[in-house]
Amino acid sequence: MQRLPRFKYLGPGSLDEALSLLKKHDGDIKILAGGTDLLPSMKQKLHRSMHVLDLKRIDGLREIKNGLEKETDIGALTPLAAIEESAEIKKKFPALAEAAGLVAAPQIKNMGTIGGNIALDTRCWYFNQSHFWRKSIEACLKTGGEVCHVVQSGKRCYASFVADTVPALLALNARVRIRDLEGERQCLLQQIYTQDGKAPHTLKAGQVITGVTLPPPENQSGSSYQKLRLREAISFPLAGAAAHVVLDGDRFREVKIVLGAAGSGPIEVTEAAALLKGAPITEDLIEEAASKARQAARPVPNMKLSPAYRRKMAGILAKRALREAIRRAKGLTDDQRGLIQ
Ligand SMILES: Cc1cc2nc3c(=O)[nH]c(=O)nc-3n(C[C@H](O)[C@H](O)[C@H](O)COP(=O)(O)OP(=O)(O)OC[C@H]3O[C@@H](n4cnc5c(N)ncnc54)[C@H](O)[C@@H]3O)c2cc1C
Repeated sequence: MQRLPRFKYLGPGSLDEALSLLKKHDGDIKILAGGTDLLPSMKQKLHRSMHVLDLKRIDGLREIKNGLEKETDIGALTPLAAIEESAEIKKKFPALAEAAGLVAAPQIKNMGTIGGNIALDTRCWYFNQSHFWRKSIEACLKTGGEVCHVVQSGKRCYASFVADTVPALLALNARVRIRDLEGERQCLLQQIYTQDGKAPHTLKAGQVITGVTLPPPENQSGSSYQKLRLREAISFPLAGAAAHVVLDGDRFREVKIVLGAAGSGPIEVTEAAALLKGAPITEDLIEEAASKARQAARPVPNMKLSPAYRRKMAGILAKRALREAIRRAKGLTDDQRGLIQ
């Protein structure tokens, strides 16, 4: 049995108190939200912090509400289940409701939060193992060593980016709100990701994600998230694709396709967006965009299923997401899928 190591639990009642505690224990403290990833990782001794700072008692971080200019604000502590079930999110941002709904299983979605999903660590066969298992191999780049067991001559860590909600949030142009002792700042969510499996995002130890903000959906827009997983429940993505389209009649006005579990960060398929922008909606162009998504995917052999299969599936998922986003933008019913052109 794997036990949690000893640590000091800190449960601040306000964000200001949380930020001072983060500063006080700088470098020796981890933020706890739902704990669905942090606690298993601590049991595997992937993190060694003497202090754990629980955000749960802080008010105001658990709501979905309309912000300025009818934007939608989602607090960092909002459980994934609440996002999956929210009538507003389902209507305005179906890709996000789908992505939250496809995470793991109900118990984990009830505990796991969107903030924790955004800050989720990357995963790899050679990393997400017990301490005992890892001791039997040379330390890798992610555990402080010099080698990568996956890409033999690799100079960076290739652990995979598997947070399901992030491709959807990026496709929907989400901004993230981050607080530290200097105040709150906002940036496009994509700006915090590095494409390096060792340190997948730029969040510093003293920073807390307080939420995400989504711009209101435009007329004739639609979105979708599609995921490849081994089981219908409790499976991290082996590939994922989110698409968001804005149409102008029978033409694409804007398109964003973002892949997950296809590299060490979310991958925006800019070539597909450039191809489709302003173009008529045709099956041939959708196929071509899917092929660009397949080319953009860079899976490596660090999870189940071969990289070749996962890469092929990235293209197929992108095509499914695109078709579904178009169907929604056109207001067609499920039975009218064949009429998207
Ligand atoms: C069996 C199993 C299956 C899973 N399947 C999936 C899956 O299919 N898809 C998927 O995406 N995830 C999956 N997960 C991972 C995890 O459950 C989710 O990603 C969840 O959203 C994490 O949220 P949390 O609140 O539990 O995060 P925590 O575990 O509390 O934290 C995760 C990380 O984020 C940091 N963090 C949390 N909140 C903040 C914040 N507000 N500001 C700054 N840093 C913060 C923590 O310090 C920690 O490093 C799975 C986990 C398990 C155990």
